[in-house]
Amino acid sequence: MARRRQLYEGKAKILFEGPEPGTLVQYFKDDATAFNAQKKGTITGKGVLNNRISEFLMQRLAEIGVPTHFVRRLNMREQLIREVEIIPIEVVVRNIAAGSLATRLGIVEGTRLPRSIVEYYYKNDALNDPMVSEEHISAFGWASAQDMDDIVHMTLRINDFLTGLFLGVGISLVDFKVEFGRLWEGEEMRIVLADEISPDNCRLWDTKTNEKMDKDRFRRDLGKVEEAYQEVAKRLGILPEAGVRDLKGPEMMQ
Ligand code: UDP
Repeated sequence: MARRRQLYEGKAKILFEGPEPGTLVQYFKDDATAFNAQKKGTITGKGVLNNRISEFLMQRLAEIGVPTHFVRRLNMREQLIREVEIIPIEVVVRNIAAGSLATRLGIVEGTRLPRSIVEYYYKNDALNDPMVSEEHISAFGWASAQDMDDIVHMTLRINDFLTGLFLGVGISLVDFKVEFGRLWEGEEMRIVLADEISPDNCRLWDTKTNEKMDKDRFRRDLGKVEEAYQEVAKRLGILPEAGVRDLKGPEMMQ
């Protein structure tokens, strides 16, 4: 079967044209980047695990009423999604100080924050994704005040729900990044959760040992990166039965 037309290639995923208008196929690669792509590598099996983990988390979120772009998983590395217009803002939520917050404000990594903190970053690789405020977002027209209301509301629900879900399997949700998109249905527009939720864009620490189970293992050369992603999937009860190595290579949908 002819390969579908590639529309976009990002650092960790590729988007292909979907089988019908308004859909896309999201393909998860094993490529990993950090520090705005200055560090590059491969984490074997990461794409398979992130595809499955993101499917699982988006399904659970849909069940509690958070609208998402996810339709269904097609195979080990691909999922069918609704085509959305991505809002160029990375929304970060933090529960425990880590990463750039710890560095920038001089807070010891691991300090529990007095309340969850939401931050926004403008999605622009050339500018190194600068942090912005709601003022910039509305002044430059990246999202309206109404859009931001929906986004903050959904983000806080996502944080509450995922914090509980991970806690149930012995994992602390330290922080994470989400992206949203505009889904057009005729003249109607609604904002939905897009992109992915996986150990690539969450900080996940074992609740007992504080061991890192996320991309920081790659960023900071801690080793056992693959194993950490597998452990997250295992604890969520979703490790792919066939294992993570899809030796057949990418399989396109029927
Ligand atoms: N994050 C992400 N993509 C980015 C930047 C951050 O997914 O381009 C996630 C990151 O994995 C972490 C959270 O957002 O879970 C907060 O990241 P931080 O600002 O601390 O930046 P970092 O230390 O990763 O550079």
